[in-house]
Amino acid sequence: MQIALTKIEEALNKSQTDDPVLIQEIIAKGREKKGLHLEEVAFLLNLKDPAMLDGLYQAAAAVKDEIYGKRIVLFAPLYTSNYCINNCLYCGFRQANEALPRRRLSLQEVQQEARFLAAAGHHRLLLVTGEAPSDSSAPTIAATVEAIYQAVDIRRINVNCAPLSIEGFRILKEAQIGTYQLFQETYHPEQYKAMHPSGPKSDYQDRVTAIHRAIEGGLDDVGLGVLYGLYDYRFETLALLEHARLLEEQYNLGPHTISVPRLKKAPGMALTTIPAEVDDESFKKIIAILRLALPYTGIILSTREPVTLRTELLHLGVSQMSAGSSTHPGGYSDHVEQHNGKEKTEEPGASTDTLGTIGSQFYLEDHRPLQEVVHSIMEEGFIPSFCTACYRSERTGEAFMALAKSGAIHKMCNPNALLTLEEFLIDFGDEETKKLGRQRITEEIEKLPPSQATRIKQHLQELRSGKRDLYV
Ligand code: SAM
Ligand code: SF4
Repeated sequence: MQIALTKIEEALNKSQTDDPVLIQEIIAKGREKKGLHLEEVAFLLNLKDPAMLDGLYQAAAAVKDEIYGKRIVLFAPLYTSNYCINNCLYCGFRQANEALPRRRLSLQEVQQEARFLAAAGHHRLLLVTGEAPSDSSAPTIAATVEAIYQAVDIRRINVNCAPLSIEGFRILKEAQIGTYQLFQETYHPEQYKAMHPSGPKSDYQDRVTAIHRAIEGGLDDVGLGVLYGLYDYRFETLALLEHARLLEEQYNLGPHTISVPRLKKAPGMALTTIPAEVDDESFKKIIAILRLALPYTGIILSTREPVTLRTELLHLGVSQMSAGSSTHPGGYSDHVEQHNGKEKTEEPGASTDTLGTIGSQFYLEDHRPLQEVVHSIMEEGFIPSFCTACYRSERTGEAFMALAKSGAIHKMCNPNALLTLEEFLIDFGDEETKKLGRQRITEEIEKLPPSQATRIKQHLQELRSGKRDLYV
């Protein structure tokens, strides 16, 4: 599998114009939810005119709304180990960072972390680990996933770990993981080589073909991503879309999600500056363009980004967000220990995350607990969702895409968001969040077709009388 990098360079060189007629035609095409070609995306990536950017943002918001409705899916990362045999210059976990306190969680400790997250209201986790043979092998990850499903009411576990063989991915499939995500970091081969000087990750080709192996191993929900800040964002976005197109061409299966991590400072990182900083305006543009280019793909935003920007991006096409995150193995349990009086002392060179735990992978900027994020999403007119219905009803891969493309997914996402929100309000909501939540639920039920509204009202009653985990 080869991504045609010269084709990308050519498309970028040919698209240096803000011609209003052409740009409006491209945005209008994107608004039809049929996706965009590489050359069309290149024009949008070069866009600078504020009025035209405004048109792009409105189109992206409308497309997100028509496909997924108002729901924003919430999840938290769970880091199981920060040992790593790679030396990615941008990462605090890199092997050569001797100041980083290393930790590997036992299965019991992982279960404890999952319990803390479930007790905050989470039902979806993203399992993350550094690359170390004992921690990121398929059997270890499968055992970890199984241990969490056994111990806690966590209903979907996505995984972000180093590339595996087809056989390894098959083991993850058998363990019933949700999405397998892997970020290419940069699609530019020379920059990739410079950023990954040693370890298995220095093999560009192995990484760029990993998602193919995941699909061959039976995983049909796969997620792509770029670490924005390593190379020209216009090149990276086109290469990412080309990667998605190749998957679609070969397997009739596009990415289930795209992640848009932006490079953040991390104590212990080898880089002293960010090689190709992406400013907020360009970042907003990237997200809106991805929404038009791949209308049916989930766009995931992490707590790397600050609160005000996260709130703005809700309106530009983002459909999933992490919340209340720690990027340190044991971070959730440690936080509770700190609150119980067992204060930890910060070690020199160690970073802290949302919860103030030491030894995190990089600095985070949104430090709000889940409850606050839930509240703010509702204030913006959206519905926080903890839904895991598609995955558990085997609506994954092509089946999911068929529903999304026919518009039918809309009929499931909003009602299920309402049911999982009600569950959250009953079990975890403070008084203010409950009040706003119930108001939002009432408003949204009124927009449902009458037969569905009746069914959802009935389910809401069942939840209030003690039933859990209801979905359509
Ligand atoms: N170790 C595996 C790998 O590298 O693919 C999986 C997990 S790694 C902990 C998750 C992601 O964190 C990486 O793919 C990278 O994009 C991101 N990351 C690393 N350093 C970062 C930084 N300084 N700022 C933002 N994201 C970073
Ligand atoms: Fe290790 Fe992943 Fe960090 Fe690279 S990005 S040093 S592989 S944890």
